[in-house]
Amino acid sequence: MNLARQVADCARLSVAIGLNQGASGNVSARSPDGLWITPSGLDMSGLRATDMVRLDMQGRVLTGGKPSSEWRMHRDLYAAFPQARAVAHAHSPFAVALACLRRDIPPFHYMVAVAGGMDIRCAPYATFGTQALSDAVIAALQERRACLMANHGLVAWGTGLERALALALEVETLCGQYLRCLQAGGPVLLSQEEMAEVLERFRDYGAGA
Ligand code: 13P
Ligand code: ZN
Repeated sequence: MNLARQVADCARLSVAIGLNQGASGNVSARSPDGLWITPSGLDMSGLRATDMVRLDMQGRVLTGGKPSSEWRMHRDLYAAFPQARAVAHAHSPFAVALACLRRDIPPFHYMVAVAGGMDIRCAPYATFGTQALSDAVIAALQERRACLMANHGLVAWGTGLERALALALEVETLCGQYLRCLQAGGPVLLSQEEMAEVLERFRDYGAGA
């Protein structure tokens, strides 16, 4: 199956599993000469392989029409993280709610470690589609595979499309759980030592990128 089709399938799946709706969110995969990314402003639920856009690492269109407005963020992520082969960005309900509070996700549950560290950061706000937003996201992703984006949503990367989407869904789930904990008076957080042990276990558990 070619990469354009896999990206389109993943985009539609992101709607089917409740991570996105309408034109919100975008998906990409690294290609030998750059990346394949969803187009800008089209309904994610109807995307086909022929709608996908191929870019080089300078952001020049090699195939297709108008790329996602967040192409800089996707491009910069592939440049910054050599292991990243796919990126999923979503405006999922709980991630958006937490991102609007501009809160990092602390170690309230051991699964926070699924993103690669002791917490999941919330990148500062910047206008969608800007270099400033890309810069903020790349900074928040240091030693992490996912972050929130203030007043916007979430982004996750993986070694493949399935993993990137699975991580995005996991982060959305964690956001919902953390919000409920906040409503109930605030969770008891795990200690640094407890989280270090989880991170160690995750090394050979299969919860990696
Ligand atoms: P695009 O349709 O341009 O990908 O924009 C959606 C989005 O989520 C912007 O942040
Ligand atoms: Zn967005």
